[in-house]
Amino acid sequence: MKPPITIYGGKKEIGGNKVLLEGRDAKLWLDFGVGYASRSKYFEEFVNPRPANRIGDFIEMGLAPNLKGLYREDLIGRREEVEYDGVFISHAHMDHCAYVSFLNPEIPVYMSEVTKLVLEAVKEAGKRDIELEILAFKERPIKKGAEEIERDIRIFKSGKRKRIGEFEVTPVNVDHSVPGAHGFVVDGPEGRVVYSGDLRMHGRGREKTEEFVEKAEGADVLVLEGTRVEEKRSRLEEDVERDVVKWVKEHSGLVLVDFNFKDVDRLKTFLKASEESDRIFVIPFKEAVLVKHLSKKLKIPSLDNFVLFKPKRRSGMFEERDYRGVEKEYYEKYESWTYKDVMENEKKVMLFLSYYAFPNLIDLKPKNALFIHSLSEAFNEEMEISKRRMMNWLKHFGIEYRHSHCSGHASGSELRDIAKGINPKRVIPIHTEHPRKLTRLVK
Ligand SMILES: [Zn+2]
Repeated sequence: MKPPITIYGGKKEIGGNKVLLEGRDAKLWLDFGVGYASRSKYFEEFVNPRPANRIGDFIEMGLAPNLKGLYREDLIGRREEVEYDGVFISHAHMDHCAYVSFLNPEIPVYMSEVTKLVLEAVKEAGKRDIELEILAFKERPIKKGAEEIERDIRIFKSGKRKRIGEFEVTPVNVDHSVPGAHGFVVDGPEGRVVYSGDLRMHGRGREKTEEFVEKAEGADVLVLEGTRVEEKRSRLEEDVERDVVKWVKEHSGLVLVDFNFKDVDRLKTFLKASEESDRIFVIPFKEAVLVKHLSKKLKIPSLDNFVLFKPKRRSGMFEERDYRGVEKEYYEKYESWTYKDVMENEKKVMLFLSYYAFPNLIDLKPKNALFIHSLSEAFNEEMEISKRRMMNWLKHFGIEYRHSHCSGHASGSELRDIAKGINPKRVIPIHTEHPRKLTRLVK
């Protein structure tokens, strides 16, 4: 018996997962993400797939599989019988879900409620982009006044089986650096396939991953992520919390922070730091949208407990007509501060300022600021260049730099424990640059 699996993305790169299970009467995808590494092999900021060629450029360059009965008719330019029965999304990171954007809307997309909430926030705060139309899309070419077409989104619950043809899919909560992450246990006539999604054993929700391992036991095939297969140890979220709370408390001037805001565990770490130091947490619009969508479900303080950071736009004079749409509504509804307000209260503020928003430092001109960088260290050439640029900004404004982070992915030893617990007959590595090492490690 050989469960029928094909890996169409994520084979020898971190992300871009697209796993196809083909049974006799059903075909299922597990994740359908963008492969950032494959994409950047050909494309960069000013070299992009051409919208005029719809999905053609993505297929030609190997970023979307060349298969029939899979894509939106407006993107392929012809009618096709849909040949797939569903896509199960493990979590709301783009390297796992972004290219759902291309799929025929007749294909149901299964995800957790929290994943949907995160994606709704991403949609509300972002611009229209052909690579980011996960929940709904507009037909190309976009006609004036055209309505959005909603996808068939179906919510699953951890531990609750879904039957799709001959397959029985059980999503199980795992711990990762975004809430609502799941792995999948798929039982079919050819045996049991387990798909890890992205996971870790060292986060605050480690017991979820342990439960997943228990429920996944006896797999014939384990499709296992191996992002950090080469690393032996993991720092804990508690370590990050200890660092961050201490640094924020000790600092007497403005505190600037940058982390992945979708990582709600990290957000809670920074919330703790702001509470314990009596600082007001000032956050930009995009981050505010996430808080708005997630606060109820994930027990984050509501948006009224934050202050929004209102950057210069258009006239640069903070006039009403400078802001539009949802962003404008947020500034009207919630307390919003310009750089002047921030600097008047610099000792009482913790400002979320990502590297991409660094030009705002030109307005802020802080005299005594600390920047806490809580993201992974640069792991490729492009990131090294960005890091150097980031340090140049900090140096220019005399800002102190500190770094503390823990990963969303299991280390080598954690991966070995996970594989041991699941005890599969065969392991297929995914989401790793070192598939061979992972296969050897878990043997
Ligand atoms: Zn992930």
